[in-house]
Amino acid sequence: MPRPIYRRAATLDEATALLAEHGSDAAVLSGGQSLIPMMSAGLAAPDVLIDINSVEDSGALEETDGGLRIATGVRHRALEWPSGAVAAKAPAVPRAAPFISHPAVRNRGTFVGSVAHADPSAEWPAVAVALDATITLRRHDGQRTVPAEEFFVGPMTTVREPEELLSEIHLPTATPGSVAAVLELAYRSGDYAIVGVVAQARIDDGRITDPRVALFGVDAVPRRAHEAERILTEGGLAAVEDAAAAARDAADPQTDATASRGYRLEMIRVYVERAIRQCAPAVS
Ligand SMILES: Cc1cc2nc3c(=O)[nH]c(=O)nc-3n(C[C@H](O)[C@H](O)[C@H](O)COP(=O)(O)OP(=O)(O)OC[C@H]3O[C@@H](n4cnc5c(N)ncnc54)[C@H](O)[C@@H]3O)c2cc1C
Repeated sequence: MPRPIYRRAATLDEATALLAEHGSDAAVLSGGQSLIPMMSAGLAAPDVLIDINSVEDSGALEETDGGLRIATGVRHRALEWPSGAVAAKAPAVPRAAPFISHPAVRNRGTFVGSVAHADPSAEWPAVAVALDATITLRRHDGQRTVPAEEFFVGPMTTVREPEELLSEIHLPTATPGSVAAVLELAYRSGDYAIVGVVAQARIDDGRITDPRVALFGVDAVPRRAHEAERILTEGGLAAVEDAAAAARDAADPQTDATASRGYRLEMIRVYVERAIRQCAPAVS
């Protein structure tokens, strides 16, 4: 197999110019933790690799008035141990990061690269959907922003056009006082989830404000459990069993080598209920 041509972009403009030139013949190289294994396995064979690791300010994890701005080079590791202010804006983020593989992968892989890769069993796409992230798709002659729920269209498939670069992702600030839980059923530590749940909510005296529930590992894309959220908003913690059942009823998992459809459905109910209960402050 011929080796791809390697191009290193120093700016986002350089990267988008290269994408305009090479389009679907090119692949963006971010942390390389999915792209390089896919190339090794013969599942990806780009003619041109556009390395964005040297793009200036690519490691920026910035607090904005409305939330957090995550630039292309922010590694999983940086989100595992963020500042208290960052964690308060997006409590689900530091909860999710430790589930991503092992430290070596977390040291190199990036949040934006994971969202671009769109593995339905991955943690960051589900966090993005749960928290109403917006994804900026930049091209040489403009840009657009896409809500996370509209970004993912299938396994490893998104609305990104070949000449577009994910240039940043914005997470809106969580309702103050929100607590998050991320739970996964996996057979071994570091494996992809068989069933995964991202939950975030503010819970006071059993009342629930701004509940977020998203599932991963169970469908072709990460799915928001909107009906479960509605039940929690109206019924509070007393309605958590109904909400978990609603999340299960809205899901459409498949049987695969790791789990049957029936087992996944039952585990969705169990893990959603657990995750919501974990968002409630401990009663002393
Ligand atoms: C052993 C192992 C275990 C893993 N376990 C997990 C796990 O449990 N959970 C999990 O979520 N992930 C897991 N991963 C994957 C890891 O999280 C990757 O880091 C992540 O999927 C991709 O991020 P990256 O920065 O490494 O992207 P890359 O591998 O560089 O790129 C991935 C894809 O996205 C495209 N891309 C990257 N950045 C952009 C951009 N800015 N604009 C447009 N396209 C872009 C690339 O062209 C490529 O197609 C694992 C990886 C390994 C090797």
